[in-house]
Amino acid sequence: MKIKDLFEKKEHVISFEIFPPNRNFSEEKLREVSAKLVKHQPDFISVTYGAGGTTKSGTIEMASHIKNTLGTEVLAHLTCIGSKKSEIHRFLKEVEDNNIQNIMALRGDIPLGEDSSIYDRGDYRYASELIRDINDNHDFSVGAAYYPETHHENNDLIDLIHLKNKAEQGVDFLISQVFFDNNIFMEFREKARKLGIKAPLIAGVMPVTNAVQIQKIVALCRSEIPENLQKILDKYGHDHDSMKKAGIAYATQQIIELLSHGIRGIHLYTMNKTDTTREIMKNIDFARG
Ligand code: FAD
Repeated sequence: MKIKDLFEKKEHVISFEIFPPNRNFSEEKLREVSAKLVKHQPDFISVTYGAGGTTKSGTIEMASHIKNTLGTEVLAHLTCIGSKKSEIHRFLKEVEDNNIQNIMALRGDIPLGEDSSIYDRGDYRYASELIRDINDNHDFSVGAAYYPETHHENNDLIDLIHLKNKAEQGVDFLISQVFFDNNIFMEFREKARKLGIKAPLIAGVMPVTNAVQIQKIVALCRSEIPENLQKILDKYGHDHDSMKKAGIAYATQQIIELLSHGIRGIHLYTMNKTDTTREIMKNIDFARG
């Protein structure tokens, strides 16, 4: 089913994100993880796409397995940085051939070891160009990324205007960068709505279960750590089990608050972890429509 139709049918759309197999995470292990994740009945599972094309085939294979063998809806990510149109359309054709109906259309980042000349080798500069191209040539439900705390290459107003332009190229839903402060998210939602961005804003939530992991995420995504989360990290960050429980409780609280403020889509960044996902899904079971 197309994700745009899920939003027509359901009050809440709860999804998971996983990354495809890599050197440290085998395909076999990911198949086990996926089989456990589908038991929680997410509305869809998204499978990321490695920068520089390193995990291209892994994305389609895993998305196809989840959709066609496990019977859960999927969203295949795709980045366009440095890509020729012919490669992108070949990828999309393979996605179609695997009965996958949803694409997360992204620009991607300059891969390590490359520089901005990568743009000259590809046919797309921004995700908006990829989205236009997909909609002109294929029949997918298309999603795109947004940044409640602003994409690092821009200031907030300019980034919002670019987001509006991106949404107008035919985006059915938008998924956020991870954030930990719901107030920042609500303020962003207000601004986006005032600007006329109509696509559902899915909120990306990541359970913080490890103090070291969060430093990496914050450095990468530039997400603010609110004072209440910082206090949790200070108190429990040195104790793995306590931190895990506190992180699950924090993410649960974040999701319940978002749902009660009318957010219809929650995207859990699972990091391929089944136990934290299971606990959170148990905690929000009452809120699922
Ligand atoms: P764009 O929407 O193209 O925006 C990139 C920058 O360009 C922004 O600063 C924007 O304001 C600016 N911009 C846009 N249009 C214009 C214009 N016309 N003129 C000037 N500036 C402009 N990366 C991966 O490699 N694989 C993944 O699977 C993946 N999944 C992701 C999922 C989510 C939910 C999110 C939030 C991010 C994901 N990313 C992934 C990371 C993403 O590729 C990077 O954040 C990347 O830097 C931006 O991608 P984008 O699609 O948002 O780019």
